[in-house]
Amino acid sequence: MKKITIFGSTGSIGQIALNIVRNNPNKFKIVSLVAGNNYEKLIDQIEEFKPLNVYIKTKENAKKIAKLFKDINVFYGESGLDKISKLTDFDIAVSALVGISGLKPTYNMIKNGKTVALANKEVLVAGGEIIINTAKKNNAKLLTIDSEHSAIYQCLNGEKNNKIDKILLTASGGPFFAKPIDDNISVEDALNHPSWSMGKKITIDSSTMMNKGFEVIEAKWLFDVSPNQIEVVIHRQSLVHSMVQFEDGTIIANISPKSMEIPISYALNLNKRIKNKIEKLDLFKIKTLRFDKPDMEKFKCLKLAYIALEKGHSYQVLLNASNEVLVEAFLNRKIKFTDIANINEKIMNMYDKKELKTIDDILNFDKEIKNKTKDIIKSVTQQ
Ligand code: NDP
Repeated sequence: MKKITIFGSTGSIGQIALNIVRNNPNKFKIVSLVAGNNYEKLIDQIEEFKPLNVYIKTKENAKKIAKLFKDINVFYGESGLDKISKLTDFDIAVSALVGISGLKPTYNMIKNGKTVALANKEVLVAGGEIIINTAKKNNAKLLTIDSEHSAIYQCLNGEKNNKIDKILLTASGGPFFAKPIDDNISVEDALNHPSWSMGKKITIDSSTMMNKGFEVIEAKWLFDVSPNQIEVVIHRQSLVHSMVQFEDGTIIANISPKSMEIPISYALNLNKRIKNKIEKLDLFKIKTLRFDKPDMEKFKCLKLAYIALEKGHSYQVLLNASNEVLVEAFLNRKIKFTDIANINEKIMNMYDKKELKTIDDILNFDKEIKNKTKDIIKSVTQQ
């Protein structure tokens, strides 16, 4: 029986992970659940999964939970998130918070040598080398839940002695692959993802292709390749989840039905495949697989991610921070869709390279960039 902790249990990834636990009661037991503001959903989850520990963002909600469930430990606030991520009585944690909020908790867990199944890609975008080195130093296992990186991992399994030519990172292209990008794009247009149903932040990031840019950075850290060895390939069907090309020209691809349950289950079962109820692919119905080259000028955010990777770590922290604020501002209808890429670029050009040695350095720089981004948004919206 594996003891599971879920950071982001009320979110899209968290709920899929809980469904896997629900369907495999002999394999998994929930120990801790971490949510943000969705009090009602967390209450339902506590009733069903009976965790020992829970976290919710506000003191007010935490008090209500403590009153309802007398025998569980309830954490809240910034210090509470830190505390719950330092508990060690679990086997696998799913890291599925959004944005930078997952960095410190994930770092705490790997520092304690724990096994973490990472969905929260911003942890690697901002934490990069520190996260990878801390995991190595403490013998922590970093598994990946992002479907593309899970696919790459599977393509590389058993290929230790063979040299990678390049990683072919597939992308759906989002809702604007075949449509022009202009100032008239609404929040609803951008949230209308053609392939996946996901949380709002990643859905907007997919529409700008910043999500793919972040995945390029994530791949660099996970698989220790150089940026020019990671090529983004548009694959609208979202069936090939990524590929690896080796130096002899062989390409190994990972193909599976379009379901996040598969990579999450693969990680929770420590890279073992288990049976599920997902409909198998019918290749005779699919007939053809199509691949296109991304337009780096149209999807400027993707280009910016490559630039950040070339320029160094502080630019990756910067891009992650400015983008987080810009996506929120777009969702709140304060800025135009095109402002996301333009302001990200503007801020990148304003800063020199900076050395960030610790998680606190990263978090402080993240704050600085977020304040700068908010100032720029103010000046743009007042014009
Ligand atoms: P959602 O927005 O659906 O869920 C986010 C979860 O994190 C919710 O449970 C939310 O709580 C919680 N949360 C957010 N901020 C905080 C905080 N400060 N403190 C505590 N809890 C917080 O996001 P997704 O599940 O879509 O994505 C999660 C991560 O996984 C992202 O980094 C995304 O890029 C990555 N990912 C997602 C995929 C997907 O298919 N969804 C695929 C691959 C990667 P609440 O809702 O209660 O406020």
